[in-house]
Amino acid sequence: MNSPLEQIHDAIRHATVHARGQSINRRKARDPTRPAAAWVAPGRIGQDQGKALSIVLSTIGCAHARSDEGGCTMCSYLLDGSSTSPSSEDFYNQFQTAMAKLDGLPAPLSVKIYTSGSFLDESEIPIEARNKILGDLSSDTRIREVVLESRPEYIEESTMMHIRETLGDRIVELGIGLESSNDTVRFLCINKNFDLKSFKESVQSAKNHDIGIRAYVLLKPPFLTEQSALIDAQNTVTDAIFMGVTTISLNPVNVQRNTLVETLWEKGKFRPPWLWSVVEVLRHAHESAKGKVNVVCDPVAAGKIRGTHNCGKCDSAVVEAIRAFSLTQDVHVFDNLDCDCKTLWKHTLEHEDISLVIHK
Ligand SMILES: [Zn+2]
Repeated sequence: MNSPLEQIHDAIRHATVHARGQSINRRKARDPTRPAAAWVAPGRIGQDQGKALSIVLSTIGCAHARSDEGGCTMCSYLLDGSSTSPSSEDFYNQFQTAMAKLDGLPAPLSVKIYTSGSFLDESEIPIEARNKILGDLSSDTRIREVVLESRPEYIEESTMMHIRETLGDRIVELGIGLESSNDTVRFLCINKNFDLKSFKESVQSAKNHDIGIRAYVLLKPPFLTEQSALIDAQNTVTDAIFMGVTTISLNPVNVQRNTLVETLWEKGKFRPPWLWSVVEVLRHAHESAKGKVNVVCDPVAAGKIRGTHNCGKCDSAVVEAIRAFSLTQDVHVFDNLDCDCKTLWKHTLEHEDISLVIHK
């Protein structure tokens, strides 16, 4: 007989697979030579500001999401990917198409490569394509920072050594979706199947080669109240900084299609986090970071019903402040924000547990 926690995890995994349904078989045939997305935006690069190119490569998708585990409870990025695996040459073409957006831009530049999975998973990106892409990045002297994304299991010493050798003295960061430093929250609420120990080991392997870790921290996975979610995100930030990460990237949950989060949201059992909660976590992160760790947040669908939102009246001002903070690290941008809805948010923090019981 499984333990009660294992039984709950089984139920959540089952519900996640169910929410994904047949959507996995309905992925569109994509042009394998074009990236899923590519855009340039102002970005924080080390202690400076510059332009950052984000590239989302179109791949077959995250191995965890493709597996019988069903992927994470809030993530539908798998469905944006390709139904067949592009070739090494295709990946290189995707990369080159995106890189053209940097034409004529001055240093310092940052290039962030996302795959909606793991750039370092050889079953997702062939090693030949990875090496060619890294080689091109190393030959462009305007590029001061490279950010890659990976789950911890693909962060190995030999890979770290090779990346460092290729990219020279650039700032290199690996983005890992830690989400929560609480194993129970990560396993149960998110259905993400790695533990804090493997995250810690990845931070160390990367650090041995002067490669930083950008920890993605999730705000408000399902099954937590606003207050528990806020506290969990703050604890995660503190723990991640203690473990030696170089950047904190806060991600408020947004309601993506064909996910368990969407199922709960449709039943009125999930509300994305308040923007006030986002501000609160960022304030806490700024204080914990003590200027040594960058704190950024680029909320998806902010101010919209499926994204982090407040009352509608104050949303754009708060989102603007969040973006300004991410760029400047100046926490005072939050000082003059106020709205009537702040009272309702505070009320939610204090009484949501009780109201959940009353309205059961
Ligand atoms: Zn408001």
